Amino acid sequence: MSRYACDSINKIAPYVPGEQPGDRSYIKLNTNENPYYASPRAIQNITEDALKNLKRYSDPECSALISSIAKYYAIDNDNILVTNGSDEALAFCFRAYGEAGLCYADVTYGFYDVIANLLGLNVRHIALRDDFSIDPSDYYGSERTVVIANPNAQTGIALSVSDIEDVLLKNRDNVVIIDQAYVDFFGQNAISLVGRHDNLIVVNTFSKSRSLAGARVGFVVANKDLIADIKKVKNSFHPYNVNTLSMLLAKGAIEDDEYFKESVAKIVRTRASLVSGLKKLGFRVLPSSANFVLASTPLMSGEELYKVLKMRGILVRHFNDARIADFIRITVGTDEETKALLCVLNQILEEK
Ligand SMILES: *Cc1c(COP(=O)(O)O)cnc(C)c1O
Repeated sequence: MSRYACDSINKIAPYVPGEQPGDRSYIKLNTNENPYYASPRAIQNITEDALKNLKRYSDPECSALISSIAKYYAIDNDNILVTNGSDEALAFCFRAYGEAGLCYADVTYGFYDVIANLLGLNVRHIALRDDFSIDPSDYYGSERTVVIANPNAQTGIALSVSDIEDVLLKNRDNVVIIDQAYVDFFGQNAISLVGRHDNLIVVNTFSKSRSLAGARVGFVVANKDLIADIKKVKNSFHPYNVNTLSMLLAKGAIEDDEYFKESVAKIVRTRASLVSGLKKLGFRVLPSSANFVLASTPLMSGEELYKVLKMRGILVRHFNDARIADFIRITVGTDEETKALLCVLNQILEEK
């Protein structure tokens, strides 16, 4: 740190992203990226003309992309705001609605604490049940802005849309943010509730199911008055928040539904074989509706297993948070990657 940094910056604990190492090639199952490329339609949108057009600012309204998203979900353009990844969407929403305080699960996406801390917001952490599921009734009448990742980050466990609707009905005077980073691997999308609930904000990303993590595109879907609030924050922070190439990529990706459905279906199938393979090896596996699973073995600590796997060329994620320290989080990769992982795990456990 420099001697110029202010106290509040010195105290910040920033988000720690999963490793992106360059020292050797790994089977990379640590950051919930999609193992498949983005749709060819997305990639074909990056033409020479598109590159030349970079001399112009990007469209601050993201109109073309918003029209494609609106068509896909059968909603209006003014129900949508596009952001630089969904992390930016979360930051804008926390800025717009966080002053009344926030509440979210004790085990969830680590970025929530980071951004709440940066913005100086008060947070109430609500414990998951012993089986790591969310009890929706814990969020009734919260009088704070509610944030629920669904499926939940780190656990992969999902709430049904009807459970979410109950949370919305029991929080008429505050906003409920549903972070749907993994929703396409689950299938019950809360965007269907936006027309009926003016307190619902749904945060979405192109990073996971649409294979565009590096393009940084997210979007918010909500009632048009909420979108107007969030847009005000966006235009006070970064009016040209999404670059032209990323908009073109995202537009191509959402217009290619056939490719999207196929790659999601492949991941869901591979998830099932990963889960059954892990269970055969004696792992406890939480029931996942996402593109990752949280798994633990009585034979080794989560940290030790993470380290041994890394030495053997496989990267997974381990979290130090007390409640999930026994587990490793494994991203669902290709079938080949999954076979390789199960084979290496088998060897490691046999050596124990
Ligand atoms: C990956 C992830 C995000 C962030 O996605 P970006 O759009 O890449 O910023 C948000 N929320 C959760 C729960 C995630 O897992």
